[in-house]
Amino acid sequence: MERIVISGAGLVGSLLAVMMKKKGFEVEVHEKRSDMRLDRADSGRSINLIVTSRGMNAVERLGLLDDVLAITVPVTGRMMHSLEGELTYQAYGRDESECNYSISRAELNKLLMTKAEEAGVKIIFNSELQDIDIEKNIATFTGGSTEFTRLFGTDGAGSPTRKKLAELSGATDTTEMLESDYKELFMPAKNGEYAIEKNALHIWPRGHHMFMALPNLDGSFTMTLYMDQKDFSNLKTPKDVRDFFEKEYKDSVELMPGFEEEFFQNPQGKLGTVRLSQWVYEDKIALLGDAAHAVVPFFGQGMNCGFEDCFYLDVFIDRFEGNWSKVFEEYDKQQRPNGHAIADMALENFVEMRDSVGKEEFLFQKKVEAALEKRMSEVYRARYGMVTYTLIPYKFAQEAGLIQKEILSEICQGKKSIDEIDWDLAEKLVNEKFIPFTKERNFGVERYLPNTNYKGFVL
Ligand SMILES: Cc1cc2nc3c(=O)[nH]c(=O)nc-3n(C[C@H](O)[C@H](O)[C@H](O)COP(=O)(O)OP(=O)(O)OC[C@H]3O[C@@H](n4cnc5c(N)ncnc54)[C@H](O)[C@@H]3O)c2cc1C
Repeated sequence: MERIVISGAGLVGSLLAVMMKKKGFEVEVHEKRSDMRLDRADSGRSINLIVTSRGMNAVERLGLLDDVLAITVPVTGRMMHSLEGELTYQAYGRDESECNYSISRAELNKLLMTKAEEAGVKIIFNSELQDIDIEKNIATFTGGSTEFTRLFGTDGAGSPTRKKLAELSGATDTTEMLESDYKELFMPAKNGEYAIEKNALHIWPRGHHMFMALPNLDGSFTMTLYMDQKDFSNLKTPKDVRDFFEKEYKDSVELMPGFEEEFFQNPQGKLGTVRLSQWVYEDKIALLGDAAHAVVPFFGQGMNCGFEDCFYLDVFIDRFEGNWSKVFEEYDKQQRPNGHAIADMALENFVEMRDSVGKEEFLFQKKVEAALEKRMSEVYRARYGMVTYTLIPYKFAQEAGLIQKEILSEICQGKKSIDEIDWDLAEKLVNEKFIPFTKERNFGVERYLPNTNYKGFVL
């Protein structure tokens, strides 16, 4: 009998537990923290996330899509706030049905833990991984020692399972920290309504820092300030904070009562990118989620990628029935290049979101690309859409994005208005450069839609 032990009941560990239980295995999960469903103090992380195609596809496979969507707010585009308070809206998808879904990380985690327990998974809280005896297949947690046939590390960016795996295998394990930290603030509902446009991700791009807002179900917004550590350290008093916000994010100030005090109460979070040269050890240990590939949050894909890890693991377990060496080998081959690709793209997006989204040239290219997508909708899709609305492997989306950049800079060269674009040239370039690339890799640009019984897209 397979005895699956999972270290970490975060988003990915909880989803993985549901998946493994559905396969008929015995599943035990150890979680370092207390049960967030009971302990208000520990559930205080108010981060909200964007769920997109890959996350939806993974939860759909486990029959959980409706439960997840029920606690989301659809987000159809980006709303940029200029220094003067001017608003510019940029739709994400080709129409309103192509949207992202904002969800509370804590609420999603609670839902998945409950689903895991309902399926028969045992979650042991306040139990932290201490050691792994690989010869004897025993994992020691503070909550006790336990035997495993397979051990899964879903214990987040600082994963102790990853450290052990690197030690056993000699894999290279690097964490590159970003100079920017983040801090969350809160915009409550105003007279029971959303105080700013509900169905948008709001961005105040300001070059070396940016402010963001994502809607919650109750009419509030979770606000996140991303800023260099040295600039954070210059804000020493509530007055400094107020002056800074009055200058940089003026239109948000009135809508966030008490934000100066909150600024000093809330923790300053760190952001980093984890890269590991091997995600599995023999047929015994595998890493999923942030434990394998923590990425900066600027593509909104960390969890989505972690959920996709679960999806492919599930696909390979079915495909290679009982041959765990093959399952782990294929999982590593499939998801590691994809994890590295989304890590790179998320770092690029950091610059795009805090800086470029406020620049005219960038906005013009985005407009041209949106028009090109409409004209050639069967064969062309922008990189953002490939990552967010399709299941094309991240690696292919990254490579395709480089080709798209070339095409766009050629057709936008010296142009100021969309009427000046030479669409014959644009179509010729797409036919010559982009379509052969997709054909060679055998993928189409159709979007993910639920209930299409998607079988996976193996690299
Ligand atoms: C500001 C911000 C915004 C984000 N926005 C998005 C977004 O829009 N979309 C998106 O897809 N992703 C987003 N992410 C990323 C997303 O939050 C993570 O990718 C996701 O939470 C990873 O899930 P995980 O289960 O792998 O790790 P975690 O959520 O970190 O869970 C790891 C779990 O392991 C436990 N643990 C740790 N050590 C041990 C141990 N020794 N023993 C046992 N248990 C242990 C921890 O307590 C925790 O519960 C964002 C992240 C941040 C910081």
